[in-house]
Amino acid sequence: MNGSVRFMDLGASTDELRPALESAFLRVMRSGRYVLGDETRAFEKEFAAFCGVTDCVGVGNGLDAIHLILRAMDIGPGDEVLVPSNTYIATWLAVSHCGATPIAVEPDPATYNITAEGVAAAITSRTRAVIPVHLYGQPADMQSISEVARKAGLRVIEDAAQAHGARYDGKRAGALADAAAFSFYPSKNLGALGDGGCVVTDDAAIAASVRRLANYGSGEKYIHDVAGFNSRLDELQSAFLRAKLPFLDHWNQRRRRLAARYLENLRGANVILPTVVSNAVPVWHLFVVRVLDRKKVVAALQAAGIETQIHYPIAPGRSGAYSEWARQHNVCPVADQLSNEVLSLPMSPQMSIAEVDRVCSVLVQTLDS
Ligand SMILES: *Cc1c(COP(=O)(O)O)cnc(C)c1O
Repeated sequence: MNGSVRFMDLGASTDELRPALESAFLRVMRSGRYVLGDETRAFEKEFAAFCGVTDCVGVGNGLDAIHLILRAMDIGPGDEVLVPSNTYIATWLAVSHCGATPIAVEPDPATYNITAEGVAAAITSRTRAVIPVHLYGQPADMQSISEVARKAGLRVIEDAAQAHGARYDGKRAGALADAAAFSFYPSKNLGALGDGGCVVTDDAAIAASVRRLANYGSGEKYIHDVAGFNSRLDELQSAFLRAKLPFLDHWNQRRRRLAARYLENLRGANVILPTVVSNAVPVWHLFVVRVLDRKKVVAALQAAGIETQIHYPIAPGRSGAYSEWARQHNVCPVADQLSNEVLSLPMSPQMSIAEVDRVCSVLVQTLDS
């Protein structure tokens, strides 16, 4: 069998809902209201209900969502915040941008997520919060992490940017901590046609504080009680997200079918497969395997027309942005090893089972050669 396989095809995902997205666009264009209007208010209600929480505040992007939660919790200079050593750099930057220090917690290499033991070992007298990331769409073990955090008096913030719709103990990602941050970057499981993000929480005070901070520190027009930011989800993106939200569970279900096929096809092959924990329903933002000779595998797949990506080739603590940090903090051997071995195979709701089979057959051939 022949044929190239795209890593994902955002155009195809937009095409699937073309009439609904076009009518959302026209509705907003003709409304004359483009920021802080009815569409955003309605989306916030709908997404809060979807997550099973009381409050949702639309913001400009996922990085701002985490940053503003930390600010709302009054976390700043002198404070330490625990973050995974192997996450996307935004989790770390949000901590740095409020003046606090990110402290790296190594993940369990089987799940790619941090654990309660890792969190417990990293707590000091300065620790104020922990940000578990549901990496690749697989929920972190929130129950045991929250237990450790509660005992130490830490706030817990979910970085749910890769986990829209995932479940843990029956609850949705976003409803598992003091507050949660989502990104609506186009390639996320729920993506806008541009940048976007939100904060969800059951804590009305956090929601109110984030809303104020995101709007120039203003709760009432021209009254600025705190030095805030400008980070708002606009009407157009809100309208697009409202059109897409009703399909999210269905798209995640398609991702689970593809993931199940990958797992079935690759059982026994010379790759390390992702582990699914028993009390979680992952949403497979990415399907990530580990291979030893990654260069060779990527080249062989590429030669066969199959696109892959790497999430992430450089751990945040190894990035130039954190060169100063790295001089003062421990190295992270697990994150380093993962950054050398992880390989993301094609995954999107628009992908077919036949395409999964094609990727697997080329991959298995390469591994055996
Ligand atoms: C995408 C992402 C973010 C940041 O979201 P943006 O909307 O791009 O700012 C944060 N954390 C994780 C884990 C992400 O994948």
